[in-house]
Amino acid sequence: MSGAMTAAPGKSCGSCTLCCKVLRIAELEKEHGVWCKHAQPGKGCAIYDTRPRECRTFHCGYLASSELSDEWHPARSKIVLIAEAAGGVTAVVDAGRPDAWRQAPFYQQLKAWAREGVAVQRPVMVRIGARTIAVLPDREVDLGLMDPGEQVVIEAEPGPFGTVYNARKAGPQAIIAPAATPQR
Ligand code: SF4
Ligand code: SF4
Repeated sequence: MSGAMTAAPGKSCGSCTLCCKVLRIAELEKEHGVWCKHAQPGKGCAIYDTRPRECRTFHCGYLASSELSDEWHPARSKIVLIAEAAGGVTAVVDAGRPDAWRQAPFYQQLKAWAREGVAVQRPVMVRIGARTIAVLPDREVDLGLMDPGEQVVIEAEPGPFGTVYNARKAGPQAIIAPAATPQR
């Protein structure tokens, strides 16, 4: 579990509890995509006063951003956005609505972030349960299941009609390959 440390003015979780389902919480040994045993979906947390530090410090991207509209509220969008510490964005999607990220305006925004991100090595990922999909400017690459510690490497090379991107899995020591300047 990672994410921003503060909520933007005017933003609140409301009745949302989606992060208690879709995220892995190491302190509870809770895996992605299953409800936390302490969650009361649509209500809150049964151990709110003693919840783990990971839960206390987590604010999803919707909550942390003053720019994202209420369409992005996870209770509506079924997407929990995470700003990764290493850079980039992960959209963690409720496995009960696995196509949520392909709907407007989410898909278009993820693509826009992907176009901005490749030039500065900030990848955009979609995660549905343990499955990871790399969102690239020109396509998506389904990377399937990723082992703990595995990284995603984004590569770019010139093609006949502009830059061609690819994503692949690599070991923990991998870095994101330098991306070519997009050619339009
Ligand atoms: S997903 Fe975001 S809005 Fe929903 S409960 Fe978690 S932090 Fe709050
Ligand atoms: S302990 Fe509470 S806040 Fe943390 S995941 Fe479980 S229900 Fe959510």
